[in-house]
Amino acid sequence: MTATSPKTEICEAIHARRRFLITSHAKPDGDSIGSQLAMAYALELLGKDVRIVNADPAPEHYMEFPGVSRIEITRELLERTGDEALIVMESSDLKRTGVAGLDGRFTVNIDHHQGNTGFGQVNWIDESAAACGEMVFDLIEALGVPLTIEIATHIYLAILTDTGSFHYSNITPKTFDICRRLTEAGVNPAAMARRVFDQNSFGKLKLIGALLDEMDLLDGGRLAAMYLNDDILNATGTTYNDTEGLINLPLTAREIRAVVFFKLGADGDIHISMRSKYDVDVRAVAARHGGGGHKNAAGFKLRGPLSAVRDGVLKDVAGAIALGVQVKP
Ligand code: 5GP
Ligand code: MN
Repeated sequence: MTATSPKTEICEAIHARRRFLITSHAKPDGDSIGSQLAMAYALELLGKDVRIVNADPAPEHYMEFPGVSRIEITRELLERTGDEALIVMESSDLKRTGVAGLDGRFTVNIDHHQGNTGFGQVNWIDESAAACGEMVFDLIEALGVPLTIEIATHIYLAILTDTGSFHYSNITPKTFDICRRLTEAGVNPAAMARRVFDQNSFGKLKLIGALLDEMDLLDGGRLAAMYLNDDILNATGTTYNDTEGLINLPLTAREIRAVVFFKLGADGDIHISMRSKYDVDVRAVAARHGGGGHKNAAGFKLRGPLSAVRDGVLKDVAGAIALGVQVKP
């Protein structure tokens, strides 16, 4: 007898229940938004009641994607108990959702990150998936739900963003197989790329200029460090959300192997985002500081001040660059 797979268990759990609460990590990205909404549309096609609850709003330019405006934004669920089943996407633990009061419900945990704590009644963790959206695609297919344009659009959003617009090493033949199916379902890849990546305001262009102007180049030009604080945001008339994707800019320089983006929050916390090329493993750096992510995209949080943490982090990343094999494409 073969053991039931987590995906099959999730299908059974979904068929057996009527009301669902979907959530993901705080400061949602394209994969979290796309995975949650694709799941929500699929559950509704099965006649289920669905609520989506997030700690933070989606990045502004995702607002026009189908269903994004229906996501409820709250940091605390007032109904501390409920008969809804909880579906959590992309979160190493419940705390990373940033929403209090989710516990006490039957919980399905779907993630593609290393280091997930397995906090659900059913846990489906697949580190080989390029995006959580790939797992949602499989699940929706297993549930027998048709690939509507809304569902296809959200899964494409998830994959397009979590592969860094098809730049990262997490891409597999399956990624393209799924994208082929999504394209057949009516997704327009060129329009999606424009909707996701070509949405800059003039303020954001100024922000890019300011960040690149103050960028440090280290490790013989192989490492770039960028710094965000309220002064830069105020001077350019932008908000924290406008920083999404900007970490990838220095990687377009040929020599650069890794980028560290220090984002100073008003609360004194510093969110550290890292991106790398080839076999430079920034997840290992994040893991040493209590964070997580993937080999080429990872992050963590530290208490400030910046001057106290900066050099140590940059030394760690320079170490990861030295360890990374210089893979030729
Ligand atoms: P970003 O730099 O875009 O915030 O995150 C890049 C990757 O690292 C994502 O996969 C994200 O889930 C992960 N990540 C970022 N910050 C944290 C963190 O504080 N803890 C964990 N576990 N993962 C993080
Ligand atoms: Mn993801």
